[in-house]
Amino acid sequence: MEKINESEHRFCNGSISAGSSICRKCSNEGKPVKEITIKSFVKKPRLESIKILDGFYFCETPGCEVVYFSNEQDIYLDKADVSVRVGIKETDDPIPICYCFGWTRKKILDQLKRQGFSTAVQEISAKVKAGECACEVNNPAGTRIHHLLNLAKGKTFSPGWCSIPRLAQL
Ligand SMILES: [Zn+2]
Repeated sequence: MEKINESEHRFCNGSISAGSSICRKCSNEGKPVKEITIKSFVKKPRLESIKILDGFYFCETPGCEVVYFSNEQDIYLDKADVSVRVGIKETDDPIPICYCFGWTRKKILDQLKRQGFSTAVQEISAKVKAGECACEVNNPAGTRIHHLLNLAKGKTFSPGWCSIPRLAQL
């Protein structure tokens, strides 16, 4: 029998509850975002039409058009409703990787081409440690780029590791 993943299963059963964190479009689980993130990134007219800014989720699926959603309020916001380029949803440059400190995929790839390694991880880690990170208002995902930092732990940021599809997922 074909294995159905948990979220898909819940999705096809039509059992998505009002407060569910499952994106209806791609049936993957979203990450909760704070009110300030919605306020910072949703374009004005659309933002004004939303009554409650609390309880939204960010859809992390690269191919899914949905950026934020609230099943509770039945509101789905896509790329056109958001004021910045959402790195994870883009396939053409510039693809933002770290919003707080201005790292794009191109900047990292240029470093790799030039010197064989990128200083992104070290520089970002240092600034996060220094408390200079403000992802709630700088990053449309509302969170720090944990993936990038976690993946880099114990690994060097080499061209072999850093392939374009993997970077696009960061
Ligand atoms: Zn989605």
